[in-house]
Amino acid sequence: MTEILWAPWRMEYILREPKDEEGCVFCLPEDHLGPLPERLVLYSDQTALVMMNRYPYNNAHLLVAPRRHVATLAEATAEERSAVIELAARTTSLLSAFMKPDGFNMGVNQGKVAGAGISEHLHMHITPRYNGDTNYMTVLGETRVIPEHLAKTYEKLLELFS
Ligand SMILES: [Zn+2]
Repeated sequence: MTEILWAPWRMEYILREPKDEEGCVFCLPEDHLGPLPERLVLYSDQTALVMMNRYPYNNAHLLVAPRRHVATLAEATAEERSAVIELAARTTSLLSAFMKPDGFNMGVNQGKVAGAGISEHLHMHITPRYNGDTNYMTVLGETRVIPEHLAKTYEKLLELFS
């Protein structure tokens, strides 16, 4: 069943668990622009980025964040807030064309009490939803999300974002 059509470049980076001492998962190397496979980043510019969630609720559970390490919407600048919303809009357009979802959940969990897994760096969740997907059935032909599928999905989405 498993297709191995994708190049297994840097697969080891995607499959390995990030270590705590590596710091914030949303903070990218300072001059880095564009995708960054070992961090599951699909797109980044000077102001904001899109990455896959390493622990997705369903396939193509994406995260949009400002580049700067800020914890709250209030701390972000107007430019950063605009960039995150703009990127969220573009992301949903891409996913809509590609995966034909019936809807999206989009939201920010701000603070640990609100359910933020990483409360130090503001990020917005984007999850495509389908009618009847109450069991979070996955959407790219996989039946459950395992790391290998994560890498495969990353490659499919990377094409989409390029
Ligand atoms: Zn950060």
